[in-house]
Amino acid sequence: MEALTDRLREIRLVDHHVHGTFTAPGDRAAFEAALNEGSTGPVPSFMSGFDLPVGLAVRRWCAPLLGLPAHASADAYWEARSAVPYDELVATFLDAAGVDHWVVDSGLTPTLVTAPEPSSEILRLELLMESVLREDDVPGAFRDRLDAAAPSVVGTKTIAAYRTGLDIDWSRPTDDAVAQEARAVTGGRVASPALVSFGVHEAVERGLPVQVHTGFGDRDLDLRRADPMHLLPLLRATEVPVLLLHCYPFHRQAGYLAQAFDHVSFDVGLAINHLGARSVELVGEALELAPFAKQLYSSDAYGLPELHYLGSQLWRRAMGEVLGTWVRRGDCSVDDAVGIVDEIGADNARRVYGL
Ligand SMILES: [Zn+2]
Repeated sequence: MEALTDRLREIRLVDHHVHGTFTAPGDRAAFEAALNEGSTGPVPSFMSGFDLPVGLAVRRWCAPLLGLPAHASADAYWEARSAVPYDELVATFLDAAGVDHWVVDSGLTPTLVTAPEPSSEILRLELLMESVLREDDVPGAFRDRLDAAAPSVVGTKTIAAYRTGLDIDWSRPTDDAVAQEARAVTGGRVASPALVSFGVHEAVERGLPVQVHTGFGDRDLDLRRADPMHLLPLLRATEVPVLLLHCYPFHRQAGYLAQAFDHVSFDVGLAINHLGARSVELVGEALELAPFAKQLYSSDAYGLPELHYLGSQLWRRAMGEVLGTWVRRGDCSVDDAVGIVDEIGADNARRVYGL
């Protein structure tokens, strides 16, 4: 069992879906608001942003890195955090994450965050479409920009869940239909099923892996339409790697899809942090059905460097709890468990993205 504990402590992870850290420390209200993924507004006056599973996890796991005892109060935490120069604070948490390589989605508020290093980049398809809406030949311009960007990225991402829901017509639209839909866009924001589907098909045609936001996110998305099962028509029509991101609370559906389709993989990033103590059960459920070669580690941390560390810490701890139980019950050997840690922690991402 010691070999499993050692590997979980030492393994250098690949975080296959993550964002940058805030460029400035911000005030306490902003910090607390950033601990709440679902809400998009300030924390209401009757509660604290720490008053959440992830808030408990920050006090439990992050406080010791600031020289505080575990479970230090929110006030003590904020005071200690504020006393550390910000770049030192960021470096402390990023180093403690034990991540060898970050696969960064830089499309979310790029001016407010700095990408961790070393990293590879993921291209957001809807952003690319929005950059060519005014071109004379929209489909052609999209293809040219994608061709130009392709050598410098390791994959693409669609946020269809936020723009159209996943329950759309995933067939490839004609260039005429794309041009027509592009002309109909108002406010520069792409929310047309044809434009979203076109972007995904162009990425697929170039053999670029496609990350798809599924499940949990902030309240701008309709969770009912973010179930990855809606992607069945797309998955049946593609062969390039499709990475289902986050997936919670549809991680069991995602596990099924990862078992059913050779090119589908998934993660439970984001939820690992936000479920806090219950991330142990989440990781256990994510290990129920899918081949071990089809799950990838991700923190989906955004903004607060605490989250880049916490994702890693909670994942290591959960894998130890779940796989440790399997070993103790005689369901697998320690060597088997270490192999599963290596696959999900780093090897699968290196294979899928060709890192
Ligand atoms: Zn993300």
